[in-house]
Amino acid sequence: MARPQRMCVVCRAMKDKTELIRVVRGKDGQFALDPTGKMPGRGAYVCREGDCVSRLEKVKGLERAFKGSVPKEIKDNIKNLL
Ligand SMILES: [Zn+2]
Repeated sequence: MARPQRMCVVCRAMKDKTELIRVVRGKDGQFALDPTGKMPGRGAYVCREGDCVSRLEKVKGLERAFKGSVPKEIKDNIKNLL
């Protein structure tokens, strides 16, 4: 059975979840990075490899995915993962 694929919000490629960083917005509206991929809430994904993280801010990938603003701290944390 195929493993679930998710779309990167920057390059829009479909990838295995293990190749992506998940950002989640919980029911309380708080954003978090989700290394386990198991946190409840709405998720958005960005590629671990390549330049998607560095382009994330420019293309407003997370803002588009969540239809609203995303704390700078979260975006900084994504960069710090790499
Ligand atoms: Zn990507």
